[in-house]
Amino acid sequence: MRAHEPIIAIATAPGRGGIGVVRISGADLAPLLGRLFNVPLKPRHAHYLPFNDRDGNAIDAGIALFFQGPHSYTGEDVLELQGHGGPAVLRRVLEHCLEAGKEYGLRHAEPGEFTHRAFLNERLDLAQAEAVADLIDASSEAAARSAMASLSGAFSAHVNTLSDRIIRLRMLVEATLDFPEEEIDFLEKYQARAALQDIQNDLAALTAQAKQGMILREGLHVVLAGQPNVGKSSLLNALAGDDIAIVTPIAGTTRDKVIQQIHIEGVPLHIVDTAGLRETDDTVESIGIARTWAEIEKANVIIHLQDARAQSDELDTAITRRLPARTPVLKVFNKIDLLPAAEQEKLADSTAASLGSTQSTEVALGISAKTGAGLDSLRQKLLEIAGWNPSNESPWLARERHLQALNDAGTHLDLAAGHASQNDRVLDLFAEELRLAHDDLCAITGQFTSDDLLGEIFSSFCIGK
Ligand code: GDP
Repeated sequence: MRAHEPIIAIATAPGRGGIGVVRISGADLAPLLGRLFNVPLKPRHAHYLPFNDRDGNAIDAGIALFFQGPHSYTGEDVLELQGHGGPAVLRRVLEHCLEAGKEYGLRHAEPGEFTHRAFLNERLDLAQAEAVADLIDASSEAAARSAMASLSGAFSAHVNTLSDRIIRLRMLVEATLDFPEEEIDFLEKYQARAALQDIQNDLAALTAQAKQGMILREGLHVVLAGQPNVGKSSLLNALAGDDIAIVTPIAGTTRDKVIQQIHIEGVPLHIVDTAGLRETDDTVESIGIARTWAEIEKANVIIHLQDARAQSDELDTAITRRLPARTPVLKVFNKIDLLPAAEQEKLADSTAASLGSTQSTEVALGISAKTGAGLDSLRQKLLEIAGWNPSNESPWLARERHLQALNDAGTHLDLAAGHASQNDRVLDLFAEELRLAHDDLCAITGQFTSDDLLGEIFSSFCIGK
């Protein structure tokens, strides 16, 4: 990424809209402003102006806003042109600016480059920068709320507080290492073991919340498996229910599977409706079935759907045997509306008893995709399996990368505690583990981050952000 050149992009979504925004960022935009406008732009003032082409003909008329660095999103000079939101008119404004800015090196921005500059200029840290993309991508209100909390720095603040406490402990240890005669007393004198234990407890709490935040961001991959005609598609539609308006069908390469995203309490669930599993000689169908097994391998949860009237026949037993042992499997019996009333009640009782026991997935849930009976219990069970704790809604969103770093920091603190519990002279090892734990936490906020990782994070942003 060439950080010295001015960059430009259309910041609003492609397509037609009431207003469209073209944004430019650069270290010094004064000469370019002089080329684009006849009047000087006062920083942070809305100027209503014609956006003229080279010959003085108006391309559009709109608002020009100039933010002088460092008081801008990127920390550089930023110009925003707010005009009419049509693709052709916005493209013309963009092309005209590019031409006018050619001699200053103005070029198209890469995805996420505005936010990357904001990060490089310390307008936000890495976790906040990621939250920008997460807020834009948030698929539920709960996810948007949490992304905004991360963006405002709530997650980073917790990470920084823990980092500071580790630094204080490190300073004490390292000062002691310089005076070896005091080394033996160090752990006692400064109550280092208790201080470390406190840090470990708080890190564990933060990790638990980050796990919630990750579920909210990533969601859960649920695969519906079972024989043909047990009601997989009906169940998918029933679960989608009111959510149908924001269901996003992802066209499969063949008709073999449909992925739909639904939300339960704001948690996204990616539900894969698969080809029914049965023995077949039909080539096309067997390809579909092979893909079903591939989806099953990737699932976080498998719903093994069966017909309540024909529980666990030979084929279902064969399916059960083939399901991966590491993935939780929910056995769900559909079409209970076709059972005699007494049997329906018995199933409802066993369903209620199974709720609340996160570990137990070997339970029989009775449902009817047709009448909706039992669906609330099924939703609740899915959230339980995801590890979702409704009373502990994460105040922020988290990524796999964050959780990994928190877990790594936890491992180093455990090792440090191990050294501290031995009474031999291992203070330097204790100090080293604290240092490594501190590095892990700093990676979350981006204080020590490789260029490769930064490239990977920002390239997943949309253009213009
Ligand atoms: P799939 O092949 O597993 O996707 O099954 P479908 O969803 O296509 O359902 C097969 C048939 O069972 C359809 O005729 C559905 O209307 C019917 N069906 C699905 N769920 C229920 C249910 O809960 N009760 C009743 N009575 N019929 C159902």
